[in-house]
Amino acid sequence: MLVDSHAHLNFKAYNDDREEVVGRCRQIGMKVINIGAALASSQSAVDLALSEPEMYAAVGLHPIHVFDEQFKISDYQGLIKKGGAKVVAAGESGFDYHHLPEILAKGAASVDDVKKKQEEVFRQHIALARENNLALVVHGRNGKDEPAAYQDIYRVLKDESWTSGVMHCFGGSESEAKQFVEHGFYLGFTGIITFDKIGVLEEIVKWIPLEKMLIETDAPYLTPEPHRGKRNEPAHVRYVAEKIAQIRGKTTEEIIAITGQNAINLFKL
Ligand SMILES: [Zn+2]
Repeated sequence: MLVDSHAHLNFKAYNDDREEVVGRCRQIGMKVINIGAALASSQSAVDLALSEPEMYAAVGLHPIHVFDEQFKISDYQGLIKKGGAKVVAAGESGFDYHHLPEILAKGAASVDDVKKKQEEVFRQHIALARENNLALVVHGRNGKDEPAAYQDIYRVLKDESWTSGVMHCFGGSESEAKQFVEHGFYLGFTGIITFDKIGVLEEIVKWIPLEKMLIETDAPYLTPEPHRGKRNEPAHVRYVAEKIAQIRGKTTEEIIAITGQNAINLFKL
């Protein structure tokens, strides 16, 4: 089954035509997990999940937003209670060192201050996942001068002995990919593999165990070829499956079946 394991139909990019986008997902018969990035968008993800049988939600505060609002775990507990079985993950949470300048401009005292805050909030998401038996959706992004986001994530996961989750839109090195897979994590692949010139992702796709692979759009972002430049949507996750199928010498339908089952297993859909 086609599953987009990471989308944001809850974002305002879909305010004008959400019904139509959701309708196209329904027509395909796919499942979609919409991911919260702050309290309001987590709330919208839950509402969407409650109104659509094939949509699910993750609730969390994105690392770029940790100085925009406080992560109050009781608020998120409330959303999990409200959403019941339709809330399948905590996140997205993790470390983002790419957006450090913007985060610093929001009132953080120093780079270390940002890192400390992101780590504190990340650990709270792990606590939330632990308490509610949820998967963890992890966001990692390195900065030009701060290349250790994935190493910091790995350190915290090890320290917390937390093994259930996905490194969404994985952008680390091959050796880091190996670390996360060995730790039990899934890696999420986006439309980037359809236009990536560096080739690290392709190398990872060549060896990653099929049962550790998820596909995602990160819609409205990261639109794959041949739709580059337009807003992304869950239906386009098929292009990610096509590219992976090419690399692995499988059919697109096989990759859709395998990654769909992986999502069902991880998120208990
Ligand atoms: Zn995302």
